[in-house]
Amino acid sequence: MNTKSPVAAVADLLAAQLGAERVLLPGPAYDDALPIWNGAVTSRPALLVRCRWVSDVQAVVRAAREHGLPLSVRGGGHDWAGRALRDGGVVVDLSEMRSVEVDAAARIATVGGGAVGADVTAAVEPHGLLAATGTVGAVGLTGLTLGGGYGPLMANVGLALDNLIGADVVLADGRLVSTDANNEPDLFWALRGGGGNFGVVTSLRIKLHPISQVIAGLIFFPWSQTEDIWDGYVDLIAEAPDDLTVQTGVLTGPDGNPTLYMAPVWSGQDLAYGQKWIDRFQQLGTPLMAQVAPMPYSALLGLFDAQIANGRHYEIKTRPLGHLTTGAVAALIKAGEAKTSPTSGIVLHHFRGAGTRVPLGETAFGLRREHFTVEIVAAWEPDEDAELHRGWAAETSADLEPFALPGGYPNLLGPDETAQIAEAYGENAERLLAVKKQFDSDGVFTATPLPPQ
Ligand SMILES: Cc1cc2nc3c(=O)[nH]c(=O)nc-3n(C[C@H](O)[C@H](O)[C@H](O)COP(=O)(O)OP(=O)(O)OC[C@H]3O[C@@H](n4cnc5c(N)ncnc54)[C@H](O)[C@@H]3O)c2cc1C
Repeated sequence: MNTKSPVAAVADLLAAQLGAERVLLPGPAYDDALPIWNGAVTSRPALLVRCRWVSDVQAVVRAAREHGLPLSVRGGGHDWAGRALRDGGVVVDLSEMRSVEVDAAARIATVGGGAVGADVTAAVEPHGLLAATGTVGAVGLTGLTLGGGYGPLMANVGLALDNLIGADVVLADGRLVSTDANNEPDLFWALRGGGGNFGVVTSLRIKLHPISQVIAGLIFFPWSQTEDIWDGYVDLIAEAPDDLTVQTGVLTGPDGNPTLYMAPVWSGQDLAYGQKWIDRFQQLGTPLMAQVAPMPYSALLGLFDAQIANGRHYEIKTRPLGHLTTGAVAALIKAGEAKTSPTSGIVLHHFRGAGTRVPLGETAFGLRREHFTVEIVAAWEPDEDAELHRGWAAETSADLEPFALPGGYPNLLGPDETAQIAEAYGENAERLLAVKKQFDSDGVFTATPLPPQ
């Protein structure tokens, strides 16, 4: 009689196929490989499988399926809710599948499913080209792209997912498909916004843009000027060209008090003109500190690293605002003053320009009108009272709700935010669920939340 547990059976099978060193059961190597960005995640998968090739990914999907074990996929490990690590499941770990091939003439890169924004930038920047990434270089490009992808070039080139040309995907039955606008177009549509719910994306083909340098940096303003500055921001940004993307929000200043920050990024050819635009934003108040200069994009991707240390404990809430209304600004100011930790903060991703001109039905992404995605980041040290900090994030989200659009950014929605999840895809929800049924009817893949059936 075969008495092997499903976990042991899968581990043995994959060790034989991939090599024993690729299959990590709980133990010292597993403990080294397990941590993700958010130290508050406590999930303990049954095994981690470090894939190198597409055939490895196919083997893991087939083995887990055959033995009835749940799966999850790990890319850059930056999902705050820890969806890369399925408790008791098998992790398809892509963190070594980080190759980036550049076709500079065609302005296309082929990116491994585990590559992070910094990997892609390092490969394309020497060619005078850039890809749409998120704000932070360590975030996985595939995870970011599948759910949306707000970033420093957003007004100019759209979301990261607007720059996806095609993808290779290992489906629930282990088959590899190559999808784009002409091949499996429904799958390609769903991948652009529907998250990792359809298969393991082993590589992306993405558009590159001829941008050799940006002007970027951080401006910190006194907290007392917040209301006036955000008022002025709204008027000024309405006239600004798409070459300018500005992120703004709340951090802690050197004196321990909240401070309003702006992170402008100019990605146009004319740097002198861009500097003039940034000066106008800087002059909205009397900055406490302003460090804005021409820089390579790779440097920009490290600007926030000090704020987002790996392994700290985090919880994120999100609300989309159609406008920075007086009520919304009051709620944000209240939140800044009520922050329970100096490492907590609020980020406003301003979606405008190129991405707003993509018709809603063209991709699964659910919100194409101009908006601010508010990211409320509670952060604390492991020995602190988590509920205090989580309470601040929850209260801030509740305070913003009356001024917010329905839904929220799927990449940041936690599993319990059912009301926001139900609205996150708007008119695209029905088609998204139909594609889920077509490609993963047994629910093998669970990633960022999908609306209920
Ligand atoms: C510090 C920080 C900064 C951020 N900045 C931004 C930002 O500027 N703009 C923005 O839009 N978002 C931002 N995010 C959110 C981020 O886009 C999402 O958390 C994203 O899911 C992270 O992807 P990952 O691969 O790093 O994470 P992981 O935790 O590895 O994966 C996230 C989800 O995607 C799935 N997934 C990952 N790779 C694959 C794959 N190859 N195939 C199938 N499924 C896959 C996973 O299963 C999981 O469900 C930020 C998050 C953090 C923590």
